[in-house]
Amino acid sequence: MSACPPVFVLGAGLAGTVAACRLAARGVPVRVIADRPGASALHGGGWLLGAAGPLDAAWPGAARHLDAATAFARAGLEALDLRAGTFVLPDVEGARRPCELAPASHAVVATFGPRLGVIDLVPLGHPFAGMQAAGTPIAVDWPPGPDAFGRSFAYVSQRIEAEPALLDGLLAALRAALAGHPVDALLLPPVLGVLRAEAHRRRLVEALGVPVGEALDVLPSAPGLRLHAALSAWRVAAGVETETARVTAIELSPLGVRIGDALRPASAVVLATGRYLTGGLSMHPTVAEPLAGLPLAVPVATNPLTEARREGPYDAGPFATGVRVDAAMRVCGADGRPVHDGLYAAGDVVGGLDTLTSRCASGLALVGGYAAAEAVAAQEGR
Ligand SMILES: Cc1cc2nc3c(=O)[nH]c(=O)nc-3n(C[C@H](O)[C@H](O)[C@H](O)COP(=O)(O)OP(=O)(O)OC[C@H]3O[C@@H](n4cnc5c(N)ncnc54)[C@H](O)[C@@H]3O)c2cc1C
Repeated sequence: MSACPPVFVLGAGLAGTVAACRLAARGVPVRVIADRPGASALHGGGWLLGAAGPLDAAWPGAARHLDAATAFARAGLEALDLRAGTFVLPDVEGARRPCELAPASHAVVATFGPRLGVIDLVPLGHPFAGMQAAGTPIAVDWPPGPDAFGRSFAYVSQRIEAEPALLDGLLAALRAALAGHPVDALLLPPVLGVLRAEAHRRRLVEALGVPVGEALDVLPSAPGLRLHAALSAWRVAAGVETETARVTAIELSPLGVRIGDALRPASAVVLATGRYLTGGLSMHPTVAEPLAGLPLAVPVATNPLTEARREGPYDAGPFATGVRVDAAMRVCGADGRPVHDGLYAAGDVVGGLDTLTSRCASGLALVGGYAAAEAVAAQEGR
């Protein structure tokens, strides 16, 4: 007697992880296959949800899942302690970025008053010295060692995670530096760790007696590393097995996932493979979905790097293209009908809008992953 095949979720970014953990929560046997970190591991820390409109423009009805999907992710991504609100938060270059959800470590900065001390870890003229404009710069001689500068904050965060004694050194350096500076709150670059960043931040708050927060990051991104680590931890806690492999094809009849010569039967497949960065869409010789040659929304025939329409490079087809889905996140053909009852898609691989300029990329990944899982669970009778 053969057991019913599992649901395969392809991709372990935000969309794939939300889908997989939601399926597990609904009692559906699920496996994730992913070959490397994607856009989620580059996330800057300020989550754009698009609640005020863009989300529904991308996919009518999407916003109705937003609250449930966000609450689900906030509970699952426990280490990040995600806070919801309307924030405008500084990044390491000094830009102020609006967002609607952020790890506590960044979100608390929105509550800081004008007497803000900004911890200066880079020399003047460094692009990340831009964040000093947010308050009074305070020079701190840390981290120790010849490689302190010229490395990213993501690197320093990884070191703190691996060598907790470094946090003691930071605390001592902060105490010494603060002696001549009466401040109401402290802004740090994102250096406080990876999975334990929030616990480390709380330790500093307690020891220094002032609120402490971190700026958002640019590439390479400490918040992205944290999100990647928190997504992995969530899948483990939810009992979802993640296999490291590159899927080479999706077969539709019968439904299955191919890895080289091996074909794995699937009761459903959730495609959460991202866009160009991860190979969820390929560019050569034309823009295509490489695993099943799925029809694309906003299809383009030319090289996306050279095509620029009247609207400019970002609003042009290549940046808005991706697979088509219906209201249940089933992949559709040009006629709007599902290409297969068991094939779903979520996250950046879904087309229709430019995920960067539309300011709802994280919202789409959250809602798409959640809605796809709900639809699969209903299909499986759960
Ligand atoms: C540099 C950068 C910064 C960003 N900053 C922000 C921000 O600050 N705020 C915000 O709201 N949004 C931001 N975004 C957007 C946001 O990060 C993405 O929209 C979101 O993370 C997409 O998640 P995803 O799960 O769809 O894709 P991804 O995270 O890209 O995951 C795709 C997954 O698919 C897997 N995969 C692909 N093909 C295969 C295959 N054939 N076999 C096996 N596995 C495969 C990859 O291994 C990966 O695990 C940023 C994006 C980028 C690129």
